[in-house]
Amino acid sequence: QEVELQSYLSKICEAFQLALSEKNVHIEVNCPKYVNVLIDEERFMQVIINVIDNALRYSETKKILISVEEDNWRVKLSIQDYGVGIPSEDVPYVFDKLYRVDKSRSRKNGGYGLGLSIVKDIVEAHGGKVEMTSIAEKGTTVSISLPKER
Ligand code: ATP
Ligand code: MG
Repeated sequence: QEVELQSYLSKICEAFQLALSEKNVHIEVNCPKYVNVLIDEERFMQVIINVIDNALRYSETKKILISVEEDNWRVKLSIQDYGVGIPSEDVPYVFDKLYRVDKSRSRKNGGYGLGLSIVKDIVEAHGGKVEMTSIAEKGTTVSISLPKER
């Protein structure tokens, strides 16, 4: 489906309101109007939800920034937190199935280590790419680029 990103993203953030206010976390959405992408609304929702869920669960961030940039070829969506980050030796593996950073710590927080592998599958099924940059103690950014419809 053709989806207008700004209203799509604010709809998803509304769904998170309760969890957000409980944790005192604020999501800022920085998305221009009328950026349209061709996505499967339901499946792509899983992508955003998984990434936000991770930021809320692991990063101890007080703010999540979702920003959207577009050029002639692609739409780039970045989801950034300002939390604990991920040690650089773990970053290359986070999209692997069942991979979890600091097993003892994260086991307490539930989770199977599947979220990001599902994120990657769904983004690639849309012809897109996903990458993560993370700096320990500074935070984590997940960037998703989707090819523009033509
Ligand atoms: P699931 O998503 O299946 O419930 P999970 O959250 O452990 O389990 P992933 O979503 O694939 O699995 O994440 C893999 C690991 O990467 C997490 O266990 C966590 O250690 C780390 N991680 C992911 N996102 C962040 C983040 N924003 N800040 C810090 N660590 C993160
Ligand atoms: Mg997860």
